[in-house]
Amino acid sequence: AKALSQLRPRQPPILRRHVVRAAPIHVSSVGARATSAVQGEVARAVPVEYHARTGINSRADYETLYNRSIQDPAGFWADLARQFHWEKPWRKDHMSFNFDRRKGQVSTTFFDGARTNICYNAVDRHIEQGRGSQPCFLWEGNDIGEDRVMTFSDVRDEVSRVANWLKSVGIGKGDSVAIYMPMVCELPIAMLACARIGAVHSVVFGGFSAESLSQRIADAKSKVVITASGGARAKKVVPLKQIADKAVQLAAGSGFQVENVLVYEHKSVPKGECAWTEGRDTWYQDAIPQQDRHCPVEWVDSEHPLFLLYTSGSTGNPKGVVHSTGGYMVSAATTTRYIFDLQPGDVYWCTADCGWITGHSYLAYGPLLCGAQSVIFEGVPNYPTPARCWQVVEKYKVRQFYTAPTLVRSLEAQDNKFVTQHDRSSLRILGTVGEPINPRAWMWFFETVGEGRCPIVDTWWQTETGAAMITPLPGAWPCLPGSATLPFFGVLPVILDDKGKELDGEAEGILGMKQAWPSTIRTVKGDHKRFEETYFSAFPGYYFTGDGCKRSADGQYTITGRVDDVINVSGHRVGTAEVEAALASHGACIEAAVVGFDHDIKGQGIYAYVTLHDGNDFSEDIRKDLVKTVREQIGAFAAPDVIHWAPGLPKTRSGKIMRRILRKIAVKKDDELGDTSTLADPGIVQGIIELRGK
Ligand code: ATP
Ligand code: MG
Repeated sequence: AKALSQLRPRQPPILRRHVVRAAPIHVSSVGARATSAVQGEVARAVPVEYHARTGINSRADYETLYNRSIQDPAGFWADLARQFHWEKPWRKDHMSFNFDRRKGQVSTTFFDGARTNICYNAVDRHIEQGRGSQPCFLWEGNDIGEDRVMTFSDVRDEVSRVANWLKSVGIGKGDSVAIYMPMVCELPIAMLACARIGAVHSVVFGGFSAESLSQRIADAKSKVVITASGGARAKKVVPLKQIADKAVQLAAGSGFQVENVLVYEHKSVPKGECAWTEGRDTWYQDAIPQQDRHCPVEWVDSEHPLFLLYTSGSTGNPKGVVHSTGGYMVSAATTTRYIFDLQPGDVYWCTADCGWITGHSYLAYGPLLCGAQSVIFEGVPNYPTPARCWQVVEKYKVRQFYTAPTLVRSLEAQDNKFVTQHDRSSLRILGTVGEPINPRAWMWFFETVGEGRCPIVDTWWQTETGAAMITPLPGAWPCLPGSATLPFFGVLPVILDDKGKELDGEAEGILGMKQAWPSTIRTVKGDHKRFEETYFSAFPGYYFTGDGCKRSADGQYTITGRVDDVINVSGHRVGTAEVEAALASHGACIEAAVVGFDHDIKGQGIYAYVTLHDGNDFSEDIRKDLVKTVREQIGAFAAPDVIHWAPGLPKTRSGKIMRRILRKIAVKKDDELGDTSTLADPGIVQGIIELRGK
C-alpha cells in the first residue's frame, strides 16, 4: 500500500483532508429518512420549508400551471412573453413544431411574426423602468480585493460602444462573432453587444486549445474574434491572445480568414508582452472608449439566431447548437424566475463560465432579464483557499447559489471549517447542473452549506435545450436527493423503450421529449441534416436526449446516466449514475466513475474507477467494502468486477467525467484514447494507467 500511495499524484495541499468519515453523515434536521438517502439505498424525500415569491408553493399550484402549459402552450407562453418588449407582436398561431422527420423538415417556431431584441429586454427595459442605477454585474476578480460593480446604465453604455465598434468593422445582422475571453464583465458585454445589432455570438470557453478554437471559428465563419491579452486562474496565467493568434492562423490554413481581433488588455498579460498584427488587431481599451455610447437596437425576428454554442464534447465531435431569439429569451427568463425564485435586485451567483450554456442562460441572460444582480467570478473556487466560494457568498450576501456536482464534491473533500467560517445566512436556494449528483454529496451541500434551510434545485438540461427542463421548484414539493424530480412548464418528457415505444407510469428507459419548448435547439450550424440525424432519428416523433431516466409511480424523474454508457450485465441494464452514487456513499470514497467491459459470461462487466479521500490508502479491505456497499444498495448483479484506484478522474473542462477514455483504459487500449487535449487535466490519464491492476 505504501508503494501505491507514492504512485498517486500529489494533490495540491488545499485538497487534503485527513478526517475520514466512515460512518454515514448524521443529518439532524431531516432525521433518519435522509440518512438512508445518504446510504444511497432509496433516495427519500427531504421536505424543506421555503416560501416562493413566484406563488408556486405546492404541487397543486405547479400542476395548475403545468397542465395549461401542455394543453395550450401557445397561449401559456404568450402570456409569459407579454412582460417583455416586442417591437411587433406575434401571430395568433405563433407556435409550431415538427419532431417527426417522416412528416417533413424538423422545425420549431415560437412567437412567429414577432420582432424583438434580447439586449433591449435584458438591459434597456430595466433602465426605462427606473432601474438604471441598480447594479446588475458584481464582478469578483481572481485575487481577493479585486472587484467591480456595474449598473444597468453602465452596461448599456458599454454594450453600445462595443456594438458600435463591431458595426465599424463591418459586422451586422446575422454575422457571427467569436468570443474567447476570461470571466470579466466585458465577456457578457460582448455577448450583449452582438445581440444588440443582431449579430450571432459564438462564445468559446477560455480553456480551449488553439485547435479547438480554430475549428469553432472556421465552422461558425466568425470574421471577428473578441479576446483578451490573458486570463488569470488561481496562480496560472492563460495566454489567451497567444492562443487566439495561433487559432486564427490555423483557421487561415484551413481556408478561413479572420479579419479583426479585438483584444481586451487583462492585467495578467500586459500590452507589451503581446504579439501584434497591425491592421488586424485592436486594443479594446484604445478603441472602445472612443465609440459613441448610444447604439440603436436592431429589431430582429423572433426566430433570428441569437447565438451558437458548441456542445462541450463529452461524447464526440462538437456541434454548433443554434438558439433562437424570442423563444430562448422567454425560456431563459421564465426558468430563472421560477427555479431560482429570482426577483429584481436579488444577488444571485452561478459559478459557470460564460463559455458553457449554463453561463449563457443563468449567468448572463436569465438574471439580467429578471433584473437581478449577477455575481461574475473570474477565479477558481479553491483559490486562495477552499473557503473562497463561501467568502464570496458572505461578501455579496448571495441569495441563490448555482454550481456543478463536481465542485460540490471537491469542496466536500475539504475540512468543513472552510465552509462554516463564513456567514451563509443570506443563502436561500442552492442549485446543481451538469451531471447527476450523488445523494451523499447532495446531503453535504444541503446540510453543511445550506444549513438544512435551502432547497436544492437539481436541474437537468442540455446545451440543446437552452434552459432547464426537469427540476424541482423551491418550496413546491420535497427535494429528492439525486433526482431532478418534475418537468418544468411546457416540458413533456417521455420514457421510451429500445424500440421507441412510450412507457407508462413507473418506468425506466430513454428520455425523450414529445413537445417543443420555447428554447428548443433550432438547428446545428450549417448542417440541418446532422441536426435531424442526431436528435430526431433514433425515435421518430421525439427529441432524443441521449440520457437514461427512471420515472417513479408519482411521476418524478431521475436521470440514470447517458444511454451510451448504460451497462448490460447478464441482461440487467445498469445506469452508471446509480453505481457511482452507491460507491460514493462509502465514507472513504470521494468520487467514482463506472464503465462497462466485455465479459465472457455476463455479456458486460462493471469496471469502477474510485478516488479516495486523502488519508486513505488503497487496500483490499476498502475494495471489498466498496463492492459490498454496491451489493447492499443495488444488488449483487451491479457489484463491480474491477475496482481501479484512481488519483483523479478525467473530466472535461466543464467538470464532466469522460467515460470514453475510461472505457479504453479498462481494456488496456491505451493507444486508442483519442483526443485528450480537451481534458481539464490531461496529465491525470497517465496517473490512472499506472494504477491499473494495483
Ligand atoms: P456533448 O453533447 O458534446 O457530448 P455534453 O452532453 O456533456 O456534451 P452539455 O449539453 O453541457 O454537454 O450537457 C448535457 C448533459 O449533462 C445531459 O445530457 C446529461 O447527461 C448531463 N446533465 C446535465 N444536468 C444534469 C442533471 N441535473 N442530472 C443528471 N445529468 C445531467
Ligand atoms: Mg450532450
